[in-house]
Amino acid sequence: MHADVGKLGIRCRETSSASICVHLRLLSYPISSRPFAPVRRNFWSSITSRIRSEGRSIRGFLLATVLLFSFAVSRASAYDWTIIKENGRDYIPLTDVTRFYDFNTAEFSNGVAALNCAAVHLQCASGSRDLYLNGLKFVLSLPVLDIQDRFCISRLDLAKLVDPVLRPTKISASPVRTVVIDAGHGGADSGARGPLGNEKDFTLDVALRARDLFTRAGFNVRMTRSSDVYVPLETRALFASFQPNAVFLSIHFNYGMGPTAEGVETYCLAPRGVPSTNDSGLTFADFQNCTGNVRDSENIDLATAIHASLITRLVVPDRGVKRARFVVLRNNAIPGVLIEGGFLTNPRDALRVASPAYRELLADAIVRGVISYNRAIARGSHGPPAAISAKPPPVGASETFSGSLIWDPLTSNVYSRDVEP
Ligand SMILES: [Zn+2]
Repeated sequence: MHADVGKLGIRCRETSSASICVHLRLLSYPISSRPFAPVRRNFWSSITSRIRSEGRSIRGFLLATVLLFSFAVSRASAYDWTIIKENGRDYIPLTDVTRFYDFNTAEFSNGVAALNCAAVHLQCASGSRDLYLNGLKFVLSLPVLDIQDRFCISRLDLAKLVDPVLRPTKISASPVRTVVIDAGHGGADSGARGPLGNEKDFTLDVALRARDLFTRAGFNVRMTRSSDVYVPLETRALFASFQPNAVFLSIHFNYGMGPTAEGVETYCLAPRGVPSTNDSGLTFADFQNCTGNVRDSENIDLATAIHASLITRLVVPDRGVKRARFVVLRNNAIPGVLIEGGFLTNPRDALRVASPAYRELLADAIVRGVISYNRAIARGSHGPPAAISAKPPPVGASETFSGSLIWDPLTSNVYSRDVEP
């Protein structure tokens, strides 16, 4: 439905004083014939109270289920969506979402919505942009709203986030066998400065570790830089855009206004027409078409797979999958993410990032995230490339790096099994 939501056809229209309610028909995906299972109130009351009282601690309980799902929602007839106009945007009631994706139970109480089926727990709250899927945090482009006593999610977030994450096999993409690793900053651009080191050095260290792990797992690796050099952002994106069958992984560390901000966040490109997560309002630039928007579905799935891997393996505060229009994302023709692996301005994060063990873990989590992305995408394609193993072999396996296509100003940046040494 990531594409299909955009193809909704108007069926009828009702007008109320508060909003315009439009019922739409989505071809190919009909309303579920299965009746709702009764809401298990005691169970969900306990869940929602846990969300409120324990906040993010519920994550550990829920993350046992792997993100990026494969919903078998593909029936022969049409599905009727209710579209509610609010603040100039299209919103869809979560009751429609519940039916379409065959959630077994749905509870809406005290401002919290909780949908549940065997594979997925979805939680969100009225007035909030935070959405949790199996405990993993996503920051929506628009807040969930309570419109005429109905919890509603924006049509844009449904199409550009929820659907591609729940149904990655609907994306017409293939597993990748090349990764472009982008160590943030470099040369005269030090990036964030922390008490124990500069961002540009930490990003390069993680990038080199990830390069080794990716090559051991059978991926071809391209580096935007493999030494302490300055490479313009536009050049990085352009270089990545020419890599076939590849994803772009930009590695950064964060800088906060104070010492309290802590944890890991993963950015992918904001869809057209909504502000970046960290912007307060819309600007003209938010409506411009970016090269990277052709990859919206792959972008959010890649971000989901990598962020889930980071949060489960690093055991750090989850700041969510977020949206931005960073140059390296918006100018990029291949699916891409930008990972902020911790705050150099936070004492705990700064200590973590300065630890080689943490940086190795971070690199490993990125590799496993891409493998997870490949696996999710592969369910709907021809299977993963034969050369890419299910998981990276143990560290220490002998490896031959080779380089022929010299792009890095100082050093070979190509590490590939496709190229003879
Ligand atoms: Zn940075």
